[in-house]
Amino acid sequence: MYSPSLVANSGGSSNNDNRLFVYEVVGLAKNGNTDNLNYPVRQGGSVFITVPYGRMNQEMRRLTRMGAKIVSIKPLNGEIPLQMTASQPTQQATKETEKGKSMTQAKAKAKGDIPVNIYRPNSPFIGKCVENYPLVGEGGSGIVQHLTFDLSGGDLHYVEGQSIGIIPPGTDDKGKPHKLRLYSIASTRHGDKKDDKTVSLCVRQLEYEHPETKETVYGVCSTYLCHLEVGADVAITGPVGKEMLLPEDEDANIIMLATGTGIAPFRAFLWRMFKEQHEDYKFKGLAWLIFGVPYSANILYKEDLEEIEKTYPDNFRLTYAISREQKNAEGGRMYIQHRVGEYAEELWKLMQNPKTHTYMCGLKGMEDGIDQALGAMAAQNGADWSEFQKQMKKEHRWHVETY
Ligand code: FAD
Repeated sequence: MYSPSLVANSGGSSNNDNRLFVYEVVGLAKNGNTDNLNYPVRQGGSVFITVPYGRMNQEMRRLTRMGAKIVSIKPLNGEIPLQMTASQPTQQATKETEKGKSMTQAKAKAKGDIPVNIYRPNSPFIGKCVENYPLVGEGGSGIVQHLTFDLSGGDLHYVEGQSIGIIPPGTDDKGKPHKLRLYSIASTRHGDKKDDKTVSLCVRQLEYEHPETKETVYGVCSTYLCHLEVGADVAITGPVGKEMLLPEDEDANIIMLATGTGIAPFRAFLWRMFKEQHEDYKFKGLAWLIFGVPYSANILYKEDLEEIEKTYPDNFRLTYAISREQKNAEGGRMYIQHRVGEYAEELWKLMQNPKTHTYMCGLKGMEDGIDQALGAMAAQNGADWSEFQKQMKKEHRWHVETY
């Protein structure tokens, strides 16, 4: 079972070990739960608890279990607060509040307003897992989960196309705290509960055969997340990323090329375009998703995608490349680049429109095949693909996030 290792993971400096920290805690006194705490001092409703560095995680978990909220952590005799509580925003978030900006997620508009690094690795936000369900149907390959984290009590906000970092608990083989892993956000800025208080991810458990020992190896963070229990705490950083943002232009055309969990940012896009209602954003362009998966049971969010296709046939086009079930023109497996090749003429024409943005997300290996397919079409039209691609990048309408 997971036990978060938040503070020990965030410190980094070994001389922290002898230090004492003071937790300012609210929500304990009214429960009459203070009797068994170390050094409780009441002041204006808060309880102050001195905790040795080595017991910080344990104490934090204990307090959370008791329904208490840690509002600040400061070294005992030190001046610099250790920013790591769910309710304590980092300097950037504080600055935004000071400027009178609303902290709702709907606010970020111009690129300059895009929230980044509100929570950093040395002071992660502690969210709670409220949902973790499988996305792969029977007969599909691997484990892919949809996870939702509650962000209440903090200032973590984001926009579609960004990522968050997750710090898995524990240490690596060198005894160092695990580093964060990035995951594309799969929900809109309003979250799956539409209350601006959650963030969702779509995570595949990494599993591979060790090239020498032939043993099955499972990825640290993806395994942790895929098996995370509802109710468990999770250390979150970010948000980060400005590469995959959705243009505000309601008439834009959005080509989305996804493999596997690369669907995550596009789920956020499509939910914003079609599933949510906004006063200031009513999508009127064409959104075209070309989605590569191994089996039909691996089509993540299949029902939702097909429902959108049915409801908005003029604005949403859905194309699958199912490698183990469909054949390409040469009789081989149908990968995403084959579908892109099949539709290259239409895609090429669409890309000539300055309102068209093309996004690619998923496995790193997908880029070359897609370049080749579109390169051939560019050549047929007397153009050089890499030059055209450069031009699209310059115009901020070619967006790639592969991993
Ligand atoms: P680790 O324990 O870190 O293991 C990874 C390491 O295993 C690799 O570095 C490599 O050394 C080794 N390895 C991996 N495969 C093999 C192999 N076949 N043979 C030999 N060695 C191998 N993932 C998602 O599931 N969903 C997302 O939405 C998502 N979004 C991302 C967005 C961005 C911007 C980035 C950069 C990555 C994203 N990822 C996403 C990937 C994610 O960050 C992690 O890399 C992934 O979950 C694996 O982390 P892990 O801790 O489980 O694996």
